[in-house]
Amino acid sequence: MSDKDKEKDDAPSPEEMQKTLKELFGKIGSGFTMPFDQFEEDSKGGDADEVDELVEEVNVVDSIFDFDLKPRDVKAHLDRYVIRQDEAKKALSIAVCDHYNHAKQVRALENEHGEGADKMEYQKQNVIVVGPTGVGKTYLVKHIAEMIGVPFVKADATKFSETGYVGGDVDDLVRELVRKADGNVEMAEYGIVYIDEVDKLASQGGGNFGKDVSGRGVQTTLLKLMEETEVPVSNPMDMKGQMMSMMSGQRNGPPQKETINTRHILFIVSGAFSGLEKIVSKRVQSSQIGFQVGDQEKVLDSELFKNAETQDFIDYGFEAEFIGRLPVRVVCEKLEQGDFVNIMKNSEGSILRQYEREFDAYGINALFEDSAIEKVAELAEKENTGARALMTVLAKVLRDFKFELPGTSVSELRINSNLIDNKDEVLEKYRLEGLEVNLEKVQDEVNTFCREFNAKHGVKMDFSEDAVTTLADLSSLQGRSVLQICKTKFKDYQFGLKLIQGNSGQDVFQINKEAVEDADKFLSDLVVQSYDAVKKEKASPEDPS
Ligand code: ADP
Repeated sequence: MSDKDKEKDDAPSPEEMQKTLKELFGKIGSGFTMPFDQFEEDSKGGDADEVDELVEEVNVVDSIFDFDLKPRDVKAHLDRYVIRQDEAKKALSIAVCDHYNHAKQVRALENEHGEGADKMEYQKQNVIVVGPTGVGKTYLVKHIAEMIGVPFVKADATKFSETGYVGGDVDDLVRELVRKADGNVEMAEYGIVYIDEVDKLASQGGGNFGKDVSGRGVQTTLLKLMEETEVPVSNPMDMKGQMMSMMSGQRNGPPQKETINTRHILFIVSGAFSGLEKIVSKRVQSSQIGFQVGDQEKVLDSELFKNAETQDFIDYGFEAEFIGRLPVRVVCEKLEQGDFVNIMKNSEGSILRQYEREFDAYGINALFEDSAIEKVAELAEKENTGARALMTVLAKVLRDFKFELPGTSVSELRINSNLIDNKDEVLEKYRLEGLEVNLEKVQDEVNTFCREFNAKHGVKMDFSEDAVTTLADLSSLQGRSVLQICKTKFKDYQFGLKLIQGNSGQDVFQINKEAVEDADKFLSDLVVQSYDAVKKEKASPEDPS
């Protein structure tokens, strides 16, 4: 027995822990409030609020029982987001509609007679989705859950086998549904649990040797969940959770459910099942029935997957009971270059929209041209990770643009195949353009300074081109705005300039590069020159004639 297992054996059972906590709270008595303060706060709303809360919970659950979607409606919704996978969309739409219609019928019977629902024969439509990575398996399930408005939880089966620990972890999935349903246990009881990489639980055939024990163990535990079981709302190993549930039991108001019944939770499992196609092919070849094709070599993997039968999954390494609880089999097909183009252009959840929003946040209008979309699709296909590769490729292509361009005055980014092929040169071009236009911004700030200076002191300044460029350099060097720099540099200029104005009557003053570099010296020189001019004028007064 491992240490971990020993620990588990030593740990008190849920019942023992509940008993201990009850005794503890009993001894403390009602005068003791300290650990409850926070929760008392929560319930200070009074009776009216509690009733409101209750009504709201009932309404949320009732929304499931208003379910009146048809498979066609569900598929139409999925079509907006998921490209291809038509068969999978159909099969999932039917399974989901059957599942929630059944839940609705059971509820109606219970409401009418208070019983009788148990007599209704029904095999739950749990689903197994076969398909490579990144082809939309999770995406399909996520959108179905969103559309129906039920909580949805996703996990990887490998997480369970790797810990080597079976029971609790798998139950946590169901508890997570309660969290997703904002604590509403009844709602969680109609949620969807999606478990990916379930092929890794196979004990043989799938190339997952060495995982026999835990893989099989997880299958057994999942089996129980998929049929019907009661899962405690708080993890028996979690002291805090136990205390919370005890405390919520002590509060006034309706009693909280302590367990989650899994009868109406829909389970969808998936995996790539590599190697399963060989098992199917072997069976088909030896039985000489199945596909009417002369040359077995030509049968596509996806065709083989579609023809997988229960025995094939058992040969792959699954327990018969486990696979038997997954009556709906769905195959998602591998995506190709054309599909990637389609996803980028036509899926409502296209990653391109995300990029457009991200650039837009920096005031940059990102325009994806067809040539770029084709190129990204081509590069993505090479990655062999399905549509996930679109994110990888785009991140690689656009990372430097996303870093360099925000904060410059580039306001439009044209993303085309040239940008992808000559990333560095195109980036440099945009950077220079950003700087160039930046000069316009600098000029604007200089104009603002001059306007304000004139309004305040009645003296006009005119900055030369080289003065503006020097200010732009200083601004990026010091990280201060040009307006700030001007205000500091020419802080006391009004005195000197007014003096000169008095001497010479000059009303516009040229400010050049030297003035920006050494403002004090420039002004002193100007003042001196103006006195010299006055002196000269006095020494040789103008000819009166
Ligand atoms: P997996 O099949 O491994 O579960 P996902 O469903 O998580 O893959 O796909 C990853 C992402 O790729 C999705 O979030 C979605 O943006 C995109 N994607 C994958 N397949 C499709 C598809 N058929 N149509 C549209 N987008 C897809």
